Amino acid sequence: MAKEMRSPIESGCPDAFQYMHPVMRKNYGQWAYHEDPQPGVLLHVSNNGDKIWTVRVGTQRILDVFTLRKLCDIGDEYGDGYIHFTIRSNVEYQVADEAKVQPLIKAVEEAGFIVGGTRNSVAMLSHTQGWLHCDIPGTDASGVVKSMMDELIDEFKGWNMPNRVHMTTSCCQINCGGQGDIAINVQHTKPPKINHDLVSNVCERPSVVARCPVAAIRPAMVNGKPSLEVDEKKCMCCGACYPPCPPMQINDAEHSKLAIWVGGNHSNARGKPTFQKLVASGIPNNPPRWPEATAVVKKILGAYKDNAKDWERMNDWIERIGWPRFFEVTGLPFTKYHIDNWRGARASLNASTHIRF
Ligand code: SF4
Ligand code: SF4
Repeated sequence: MAKEMRSPIESGCPDAFQYMHPVMRKNYGQWAYHEDPQPGVLLHVSNNGDKIWTVRVGTQRILDVFTLRKLCDIGDEYGDGYIHFTIRSNVEYQVADEAKVQPLIKAVEEAGFIVGGTRNSVAMLSHTQGWLHCDIPGTDASGVVKSMMDELIDEFKGWNMPNRVHMTTSCCQINCGGQGDIAINVQHTKPPKINHDLVSNVCERPSVVARCPVAAIRPAMVNGKPSLEVDEKKCMCCGACYPPCPPMQINDAEHSKLAIWVGGNHSNARGKPTFQKLVASGIPNNPPRWPEATAVVKKILGAYKDNAKDWERMNDWIERIGWPRFFEVTGLPFTKYHIDNWRGARASLNASTHIRF
């Protein structure tokens, strides 16, 4: 007799409702409006008059277990025992009693954390999802986030910007970290260097050849062993060959740089999505504090703050004043590297932000 079939093991996300504050659970889908009583604090009011206050706290993104425990202890002692994390690695406490808000903020700040990141602030700089376990980082990610946010702490804590500013970083040149008002991305500037002794043991050559978006990689025999070669005239230094073939090392202390892109935004009720555009390239990838990249970000933020109209997002502001004026007011040089002259772009890249099939 056939054995009874094993039922599938559910390994997805657990049901979030069980972890929600009871007031949130009770009023799910019933919120009438929300207000921003002060930076870092949200007040949601339900149709039946229930109120809940949320206190948003910035973290350093990669959290050790001791810090997590400390944050949870604060939630137990000063909050209602509920927290959740935002996609930008902020922790949020919910309380149903207004009298708890100020003591909670005091406790959080005394423990060395910052409250903010709401409304027209610079939200917490987000870094890529996979840096700790990913196979292709070309730079540190948490370090960039920490050192830049240290310099932008007042912009996180205040409501000083014309509108919300979302910033992102990426630790390789090809994957996560994209759409942001300001994006700080890795920029490789030289083709990969191949360690031929390792290729035949480590890499599946057809997969690596297929991986290159510009067909710059060919199989080759080197010193009697199967290996690969790169047509350096075609190579656009993207680094896509490095994950399937680590002996094609592209990271380089001197030639792996940072580039800054601005104006990316998802679509919303009022506008279409916008692509971000390159505004600064070849910036030294300079740990541990990345001063050159931070200086460029501050220039852009300063110009946006001084020149944009109230509630204009970065992309709306640039669209209104035009790119030549953007370079004038930020003081960033416009160079030949800003012009996309890659010969395959026109034929093969999807150059529209609209989804099509
Ligand atoms: S940006 Fe690239 S290296 Fe960093 S986590 Fe994403 S895929 Fe991995
Ligand atoms: S870096 Fe990119 S373009 Fe150059 S060989 Fe590798 S996959 Fe191809």
